[in-house]
Amino acid sequence: MMAPTMGIRGCVTALAAGLLLSACATTPEGTYYASPTDPTTVRMAHILHRAAIAGGDDPNRYGFAFIKSPTAAAYSDEDATFYFTDGLMRQPASIIEAVVAHEVAHEVMGHVGTRRKLSLSLTASFGALGIFAPGVGLLDFVVNPLVVRAFGRHQELQADQKAVEILRAMGHPAPRRVLATALEAVAAHTPREREGLEGLLATHPTLDDRLAALIPLEPPPKPVTPVARAQYGRLP
Ligand SMILES: [Zn+2]
Repeated sequence: MMAPTMGIRGCVTALAAGLLLSACATTPEGTYYASPTDPTTVRMAHILHRAAIAGGDDPNRYGFAFIKSPTAAAYSDEDATFYFTDGLMRQPASIIEAVVAHEVAHEVMGHVGTRRKLSLSLTASFGALGIFAPGVGLLDFVVNPLVVRAFGRHQELQADQKAVEILRAMGHPAPRRVLATALEAVAAHTPREREGLEGLLATHPTLDDRLAALIPLEPPPKPVTPVARAQYGRLP
């Protein structure tokens, strides 16, 4: 019964009190609001809550909705309102957390500002380009200049750096590696760029730019050595 055209201002409280919606004309096509008791909703609410606290913000300000799309992507609107695709929710937890950390970073750094325009963000080298793929269904809202705003290259790189801090505060011991892995994974789950988009997307850094800015990554986790295994095997 919740129409796709409804906004989620007030969805802040949605995390705890159910989805309190108010009218808003800029909600993206395909948006839906899962039940507050839906496991996916609960999972995202938990991740977003942790990320907001890790970013030094009030988690009660944050709200979210989902978008029916196989593409792994996230979008920011003003008022700490995020949209996450079904495709993203099918990714491993660490990737979802990295994506959320990046979006929270935009919010705590004030990138969205007060403009009521849906912002297109995240996703590697513009992994969100996947939304331009035929059949994905987000084309209308993405190409509508009244609705979409891409963050600038500098803001994306800033948000990545802030996301590293947020991921660390969320308990990830190797946050740079987690974010780099997420950027690559999201890019791999979205179609390649198509030509003719430069005008809209020229402000966005490439995946290579973003990965380079995360260097040096933390060393990979050490494999369990045979000695350690043998010792472990002798434990009662
Ligand atoms: Zn971004």
